[in-house]
Amino acid sequence: MRALRAEIDLQAIRHNYALAKAQLPGGRAVAVIKANAYGHGATRVAEALGQEADAFGVACIEEAIELRQSGVVKPIWLLEGFFHNDELVLIDELRLSTAIHSDYQIEAFKRHSFKKPVDVWLKMDSGMHRLGFAPEVYASAFAQLQGSPGIAQLGKMTHFACADEPARGYTERQWQRFDEVCSALPGPVSASNSPATLYWPMAHGDWLRPGLMLYGISPFAPGHELGDQLKPAMRMVSEIIAVRELPAGEPVGYGGRFRTSGEVTRVGVVAMGYGDGYPRQALDGTPVIVDGVKTRLIGRVSMDMLMVDLTPVPQAGIYSEVVLWGEDSLRVEEVSGFCDAIPYELVTRLTGRAPLVYKNA
Ligand SMILES: *Cc1c(COP(=O)(O)O)cnc(C)c1O
Repeated sequence: MRALRAEIDLQAIRHNYALAKAQLPGGRAVAVIKANAYGHGATRVAEALGQEADAFGVACIEEAIELRQSGVVKPIWLLEGFFHNDELVLIDELRLSTAIHSDYQIEAFKRHSFKKPVDVWLKMDSGMHRLGFAPEVYASAFAQLQGSPGIAQLGKMTHFACADEPARGYTERQWQRFDEVCSALPGPVSASNSPATLYWPMAHGDWLRPGLMLYGISPFAPGHELGDQLKPAMRMVSEIIAVRELPAGEPVGYGGRFRTSGEVTRVGVVAMGYGDGYPRQALDGTPVIVDGVKTRLIGRVSMDMLMVDLTPVPQAGIYSEVVLWGEDSLRVEEVSGFCDAIPYELVTRLTGRAPLVYKNA
């Protein structure tokens, strides 16, 4: 059997969720588990957080349906709202909370007759310019919805474009625009994704919306006090399936991108490739751990395999354990830096070929 697997530590996810909530004593936090919980398995993550989580956040109704069908009873937020009017029947039936970011959604929402009112989060575009009402028209959009029979609670939300880059000053400007309009309107506030949860208390409002950090991935470089307390939840593990020794000057892998130097290079072949989700963009030198020793990727990543330099790990051989990411000494944040990618991508673009193996349920 192929050894490749993603070990998911559900206790780490509970720890990370608790760390998010600790940033807002008395407040609440939506556990964002869209995109199959960033590759970690949405239904299992929801189950693991079933006691603790105040609510779950997803990107679309399909993801919400999957959670309800798996038995999730906590509130579920549609972070982008509904795309088509027929979803309103399901929002009503499944008791989903929905964002509203555009006029077409206000019109459809008001036309629908709900059996039971639902929570609505009216989104402001405070500067990201992706979804939401401009600050100038936000209060009038709010007024159109306020008092609608379909609404149980009307909240105010926005999303930051650069919360992970504090030096830019843009988060302060976004918050100012949001707060200026919203402080005059009733209802709860939700504005903070992971970086804002960890860095911007001014923007915490009533409901945090942590995603990335739940999986133990920090939006900040090492050295950030809270970021460093996150526990990686996914350990991507495989093993060596072949070994060879090459003299200097030999090419390794497709296109011969890497060439050996030095007297002898021991090359290990690892059962993981881009067909599993390992980024093909990974450069020579991308760190990997073999038998506990940090070494490097060499040569282009293939569909099912990749090659590593075993020279610094002379004891390693067939069946030696290889960790691709997910240890304190090899975080996915570090790996993504060698792959022209962000850590969000590495975990979300797993193809499903590597099984997810859960521990600490
Ligand atoms: C994905 C998402 C989040 C979570 O963002 P992270 O950076 O992963 O914490 C929060 N809010 C909204 C609206 C989102 O779409």
